[in-house]
Amino acid sequence: MVLKLYNTLSGEKEVFVPLKDKFAGVYSCGPTVYGFAHIGNLRAYVFADMLRRYLEFKGHIVRQVMNLTDLDDKTIRASKEQGMSLREYTDKFIRFFFEDIDLLRIKKADIYPRVTEHISEMVSMIKILLDKGYAYRKDGSIYFKVSEFRDYGKLAKIDPSQIKPGATVEADEYEKEDVRDFALWKGKKEGEPFWATDIGEGRPGWHIECSAMSTRYLGNTIDIHTGGVDNIFPHHQNEIAQSEAATGKKFVLYWMHCEHLLVDNKKMSKSLGNIINLREVLNRGYKTEVLRYLFVSSHYRSKLNFTWESISHASNTLDRLNQFVERLRDYRSETRDSEETALLIRKTAEKFESEMDNDLNSPGAFAAIFELVGRINPVLEDGSLSAGDAKQVFELMLKFDAISSILTLKEKAELSGKIETLITEREKARKRKDFKLADEIRKRLEDNGIVLEDTSEGVRWRKKF
Ligand SMILES: [Zn+2]
Repeated sequence: MVLKLYNTLSGEKEVFVPLKDKFAGVYSCGPTVYGFAHIGNLRAYVFADMLRRYLEFKGHIVRQVMNLTDLDDKTIRASKEQGMSLREYTDKFIRFFFEDIDLLRIKKADIYPRVTEHISEMVSMIKILLDKGYAYRKDGSIYFKVSEFRDYGKLAKIDPSQIKPGATVEADEYEKEDVRDFALWKGKKEGEPFWATDIGEGRPGWHIECSAMSTRYLGNTIDIHTGGVDNIFPHHQNEIAQSEAATGKKFVLYWMHCEHLLVDNKKMSKSLGNIINLREVLNRGYKTEVLRYLFVSSHYRSKLNFTWESISHASNTLDRLNQFVERLRDYRSETRDSEETALLIRKTAEKFESEMDNDLNSPGAFAAIFELVGRINPVLEDGSLSAGDAKQVFELMLKFDAISSILTLKEKAELSGKIETLITEREKARKRKDFKLADEIRKRLEDNGIVLEDTSEGVRWRKKF
């Protein structure tokens, strides 16, 4: 089965063929570390993580790079307001960022380059652009000359002659020749951090950061570049212009963009006061896996409407899914294997993969899983599933969880050990005719979701649904 990915550049789903055999180089636009990431940012990072996990599932060797923007207008302004050095301030939010991605079970990228540690790479690229005539100097700053780059606007599907200031292009305080031109290098300003380099004193513009750092760690051409849809223009469009003008090579083979997350059908914004971060989700008593489940079960190219009601529903669904998988794991039966169940397992695995192969259609993949759950649950309940088949279903669920990473199974050994001890205690109490204690123990187990059944072979326990 072949993997197809939707490429923003072509506007089509394309078969994924990386540059070098099974190797896949992935660059993901990372956080600007001036505050907490909101759940919309986190959605894009979870998407990049699921993509990476699925590429690995398909046998690719992934090298993932994610930048940490610790130098731009926002980080400089915020650190000044807090009276902290830029380093101290951004270190703090980098720590919070890593906490967030751990909580969301995002696998660590191979490299997290920081802008402030890659100034020389940016300077080298800017020098090349100046030499080739793609850049010009003005009042101590250096700008990219958009009119020199033929394909400008291709990714964003924008006619360059239609670009106007304000709406689409940040009209900053810097003077440039053409409103579409963007700063590669910002000349030294009073009270701002600066670097003394071959191209002058100052600091890099935002867009050059990603071009220079991706080239350093992934080469001139990278297989996949991810980001949020709001990065398409101008950020990614400018990355293409800088990189392709500098190297003369195609910059990115597949551009993948994650859609917006809305809160109560509205875009998150400071003025609406509806910006939600991970801490708020935790404070309301939800496990972060539930948020991850909301993200991975919706398609990355669809807008996702977050509500507190939706996360509450998701929480219940995920609880049931966890119980289902725990029950499979702990299941015992003398029933024989069934051909029908074997076929169902095989079909589910195929459907899961074919849906994911179709531009990571995770809602379709989840539908296949839920259909399996719906069909296995009754035979699990009445004991007519074989232990071998239960094991196969369990393994399939784990395989699926290697990509979605949402399950939180309670430790079996620890749990069953505790339960067995309580059951023995209860048996002893019954033998002494201490029925009060025996009932108390039964009640305690029930409160923990364990039901005892007195059978001819002794006491058995099972999980309550
Ligand atoms: Zn970027």
